[in-house]
Amino acid sequence: MKQPNRKRKLSMNSREHLNQDGCLVQAEEEKKPRDGAAPLSHVSSVATQNTWSWKQYLEEQKAIAAPVELFSKDQSFPEHENGFQVGMRLEGIDPRHPSVFCVLSVAEVCGYRLRLHFDGYLSCYDFWTNAGSPDIHPVGWCEKTKHELHIPKGYRKDKFVWMDYLKACKLQNAPKKLFRNRSSNGPMPKEFQVGMKLEAVDRKNPSLVCVATIADTVEDRLLVHFDNWDDSYDYWCDVNSPYVQPVGWCQENGRTLIAPQGYPDPENFSWTKYLEATHTSAVPAEVFKMRLPHGFLPNMKLEVVDKRNPRLIRVATIIDVDDQRIKVHFDGWDHKYDYWMDADSPDIHPVGWCGVTGHPLERPYRANDVKILPGQAVCPTPGCRGIGHIRGPRYSGHHSAFGCPYSDMNLKKEATLQDRLREQTQANLELDSSHSKLENLCSLNFSGKHEKVNSQSRLVQQAKCLKIKGKEDIDLDNLFRGKNKNTSKNTDYTFLL
Ligand SMILES: [Zn+2]
Repeated sequence: MKQPNRKRKLSMNSREHLNQDGCLVQAEEEKKPRDGAAPLSHVSSVATQNTWSWKQYLEEQKAIAAPVELFSKDQSFPEHENGFQVGMRLEGIDPRHPSVFCVLSVAEVCGYRLRLHFDGYLSCYDFWTNAGSPDIHPVGWCEKTKHELHIPKGYRKDKFVWMDYLKACKLQNAPKKLFRNRSSNGPMPKEFQVGMKLEAVDRKNPSLVCVATIADTVEDRLLVHFDNWDDSYDYWCDVNSPYVQPVGWCQENGRTLIAPQGYPDPENFSWTKYLEATHTSAVPAEVFKMRLPHGFLPNMKLEVVDKRNPRLIRVATIIDVDDQRIKVHFDGWDHKYDYWMDADSPDIHPVGWCGVTGHPLERPYRANDVKILPGQAVCPTPGCRGIGHIRGPRYSGHHSAFGCPYSDMNLKKEATLQDRLREQTQANLELDSSHSKLENLCSLNFSGKHEKVNSQSRLVQQAKCLKIKGKEDIDLDNLFRGKNKNTSKNTDYTFLL
C-alpha cells in the first residue's frame, strides 16, 4: 500500500463563507472569537508530539487490536492518498439530509479526512468525511446522473451554472481522479428500483423496523426513506445491509412493523392493502442477501472518530456488541461518554490508521499527563484538551464548560448542531427548487393527500407500538432525542456525526 503524506494538516479560515455572489467573505457574527478561542490554524496536536505508541500500549494493557480483516473498505487503510486540497469544489450528500446533494468545498484536509463546507452557509454546518467516501462526487455528477443539485444559498436554480460559478469566483473543481471508483463492488441488482417498498431499521432508533421505500439508488447503494416521515431519517446503505429486509420480514420474525405516519390503523397494518393503495410493488424477497456478522468483540482496541468533536480520532475500546453495532469507550474517559455505533460506520478504523494516513491520534487520557501552567485557562472537563467547540469549527478551542463538547451542560443538550435547511427563510426555500423535491418525498403517502410531517407523533406512535409489544429494552433516550425536530434549533443531528 502506498503511504500517504504524513502530517498533512491544512486549513481554510473557517470564519469565511460565501456571499450571494459566491465569493468568500467573513461572517458578521463570526468576527469576534468568543470563549477565548484561537484561530483554527493555531491548533497543535500534542498526540503527535509524544512517544506514545500502540505497540507499547497494547502490551501494557494486555489488550488486542481489532483484526484488520473485520474492517470494511470504507474503514480500513486507504489504497490511495488524499489528493484533495483546501478550496476545491465538489458535489456531495448532506449528512443531515441524505437525499440532498449539495455544492461543497474542501475547508480542511487532515490525513485521509476532509472537512467539507456547504457553499453559501456558515461553517457551523461543516462536517468531516473520509476522502474515499461514496457520498462525494466530482462537479457535474448530479447533472450526469439526473440528480438535483442543491445550489449555494442566494443563487437561483435556473441561473446556476457550475462552470460560470467556478470562473466568476476563481475556484477550482476537485479533479475526477481524486474520487473513489466503487465499480469494484459490482452494480446494484436490477431488482432494486426506486419507488419499491421494503422493511428497514430506523438507524436513529435501531429497535424499530419501519415501512420504507427506495428513494434513490447510486452505484451499489440505495437510499432508504421511511414512508411519510421527513428525510432526516433517510440513510444510504448497500443492498446487503442487515438494515434492509423484504416486505413481510417483521411478520415472519415476530417483530412489530412501524406503519407509515398517519396510517389509519397502524396496529393492523396490511402490506397487501398498502401496496395496492399506493400503486407500488415490493422488492422481491429473493434478492436480499444478508451480509456476514461483523465479528467485532468486546475488549478489542481501535481508532474512532469522536462524534462530539469530529475533528478528533481517539484510542477506543469495544465494550459491547450487538448484531449490527459496537459500543465504544474512549480510553481513559468516563463511561458516560460511551456510545453505540454501527459496525459499518466509516468513522471506525483499525489500530494504526491515523499513523498511516497522517492524522493525529488522541492518546488515552491519563490525569498525570496534564500539566497546567500557573494562570493558564484550561477546560475543566477531565480528558478534554480544549480542542473544538460546541458551536462547531468556527472556533478551534475552548477554555470553559460553556464551549466544551464534553461538559455536563452540553451533554444534556439534545443536539449541538443546527439544521441548515430548517434555518433557511421561506423566501430562500421558494427560490430553491431542490427543497420542493424534499417536500414531495416527505409527503409520499397512501391516500394521495399531502400530509404535514410531524416527528413528535412518530415518537408517540413508536412508543405506543413498543408498549403494546411489551418491549422494555428500548433505549428511551434514544427514542425521544428527536422530539425537538420541528423547532429551528436543537435538532438531533449531533448523533449523525
Ligand atoms: Zn473541554
